[in-house]
Amino acid sequence: MGHEFAGEIVAVGPVANGWTAGDRACVNPNGDWCGTCAYCRAGDFNMCPGIWDTAVGLARDGGMAPFAAVPVKTLHRLPEGVSSV
Ligand SMILES: [Zn+2]
Repeated sequence: MGHEFAGEIVAVGPVANGWTAGDRACVNPNGDWCGTCAYCRAGDFNMCPGIWDTAVGLARDGGMAPFAAVPVKTLHRLPEGVSSV
């Protein structure tokens, strides 16, 4: 549960793309789109049929879990001054 959330990164995997422990982020729960289907090619990423297999807080642990492992492409940096709670 918890498909819309923000928090602090405590660990990163081998494909961190510049993210490090301690960074603060919010998560696009439907952000793990395929990029190749007709919807994605049209820019309608929220319609990608692939997101339902990977949706954060639906198909995998989300913000109600003690920790959530999410794809890097679902992360967005929180600016200074923006609370994560
Ligand atoms: Zn797609």
